[in-house]
Amino acid sequence: MTTIIDGKAVAAVLREKVASVVAQIGAQQGVQPALAVVLVGEDPASQIYVRNKHAATEKSGMRSIAHKLPAETSEDEVVALVRKLNEDEAVDGILVQLPLPDHISPDRVINEIHPDKDVDGLTEANAGRLMLGKDGLVPCTPQGSVILVKTVTEKLSGLHAVVVGRSILVGKPLSMLLLAENCTVTMAHSRTKDLASVCREADILCAAVGVPRLVKGDWVKKGAIVIDVGINRIEENGKKRLVGDVDFDAAKENAGAITPAPGGVGPMTIACLLRNTALAAARRRGVAVTV
Ligand code: NDP
Repeated sequence: MTTIIDGKAVAAVLREKVASVVAQIGAQQGVQPALAVVLVGEDPASQIYVRNKHAATEKSGMRSIAHKLPAETSEDEVVALVRKLNEDEAVDGILVQLPLPDHISPDRVINEIHPDKDVDGLTEANAGRLMLGKDGLVPCTPQGSVILVKTVTEKLSGLHAVVVGRSILVGKPLSMLLLAENCTVTMAHSRTKDLASVCREADILCAAVGVPRLVKGDWVKKGAIVIDVGINRIEENGKKRLVGDVDFDAAKENAGAITPAPGGVGPMTIACLLRNTALAAARRRGVAVTV
């Protein structure tokens, strides 16, 4: 029997834990943790993401502060806002919604965020901490992916993990997290030779590629844990739909456990953003919590 990993259910449990941590911070410090979100321009997908993050933040008991700036805002003005939020005692987390308009360097803006408020975990400081195995704020999607693996087995040590994709947002941090769990990690990418054979070696196979159903059923070793990070919009039989980077129907025949897409990693991303915000608030305010 293949386990279908229910990301929505796992995310719901995590969000409840976050809400109780938020209540604990409120009871001990008399403050309501706050997440500030900076959105520049009118990108429709970004507007939906920001709306969803706002609703989820408020639902967890935290304050959500939206800064919506027109597309023509200069890089210096965005940097000035980030610096102001860094200084603002009431703000625990800062998220700059990507992509930014072309005239603004995401690198410069992201790295202006104070590492202790960097709830997306994308600053060079937090990437460095992850690499060095030090406490920091970890990018949300990779963090959510590892939580999903752990719903299947706590014994990750010694397992061979293959991560397909080496982006800064997903593939690299996910590989680092699995390494920290003592997995033997292979990072695969567009230049990897015989990707199918590499994937067949995996006890844990993670796909973060952006190519619909790249990973075929016979690339999956019997009993492997398959984590599909991909979200791809395709048109099939005249209908628009979302599919992952794994051919789910075929892969589930071999997998021991597999995430659906959508409904797997996706819901974990926002839940881990809330977790990071609660953790950032607790650390800054000296409240000991586990979440
Ligand atoms: P990127 O485009 O930044 O990175 C894609 C990676 O896949 C690259 O490392 C690239 O290799 C590799 N790649 C591309 N084509 C192939 C191929 N044919 N064979 C092997 N490797 C290949 O994407 P992201 O990491 O940002 O996102 C990956 C997927 O995850 C996307 O579908 C995205 O929508 C989804 N996503 C989902 C999230 C969620 O919340 N569930 C959050 C973030 C992303 P190379 O480096 O050699 O070019």
